[in-house]
Amino acid sequence: MGKRIAVVTGGIGGLGTEICKALAQAGRTVIAVDLDSRAERLAAFAQEVQGLDIHFAAANVADYESCGELVRGIEKERGSLDILVNNAGITRDATLRKMDRAQWDAVLDVNLGSAFNLCGHAMAGMQARGFGRVVNISSVSGQTGNFGQTNYAAAKAGLHGFTMSLARETATKGITVNSISPGYIETAMTGAMPAEVLARISGSIPAGRMGQPADIARTVTFLSDDAAGYITGANVPVNGGLFMSF
Ligand code: NAD
Repeated sequence: MGKRIAVVTGGIGGLGTEICKALAQAGRTVIAVDLDSRAERLAAFAQEVQGLDIHFAAANVADYESCGELVRGIEKERGSLDILVNNAGITRDATLRKMDRAQWDAVLDVNLGSAFNLCGHAMAGMQARGFGRVVNISSVSGQTGNFGQTNYAAAKAGLHGFTMSLARETATKGITVNSISPGYIETAMTGAMPAEVLARISGSIPAGRMGQPADIARTVTFLSDDAAGYITGANVPVNGGLFMSF
């Protein structure tokens, strides 16, 4: 068997970069997919992942055809697409009264529509080969709701409904589908939040600190391992104890 081929969407972002590195270090060939292909960001990414079996492909995960082209291209060039990490995500925060339709649509399309767009194209090949690992990056906001995030929380909660349903449809085919719900992780996404809000959040986390991208990357590596075949339809919270449930 050749090396497993992994796709990580939002692959050059804060969590994405760390997920790409962890999967490559676990022996996967990794394709980082991102909408943003500006030279300076790609150069920084290339520097960060130097020496690892990590490649870049530009695609818009909110666009069904763009995802189809991506999946077909990878399957043709590399022979398979075995691990799909739906990690690309955006926020467009506003209270519902101030949220416009464009903010709603953008967040639903990128955070939730993307799972349909990519799984929709990748599932046939995974089923034919009898192996697949899908990991959807959700959020604690999808479990608890969050002020100013009706769009984001709806998309992230929806992602888990998608996860459980697709898990049922593929459980006998060698495919697992799981989601991860990060709490607050130190990346550009949370770096954009006001310092006093971040301080308040850290104080409310039982672990007393925010998480690191590596905390999420480790969980993706675990769920996408060949040996993790009996874990499907699960949501793994990685949140320092911020939200506990069972
Ligand atoms: P980030 O902004 O650093 O990275 C997101 C990446 O997605 C960026 O590189 C961006 O260019 C890319 N992207 C955006 N729209 C895209 C599109 N249409 N097509 C392809 N790529 C696109 O954010 P991050 O903090 O690394 O977040 C990664 C994921 O983790 C997101 O789904 C986010 O919702 C989730 N998450 C993050 C945190 C956190 O604390 N950082 C917490 C919970 C969940």
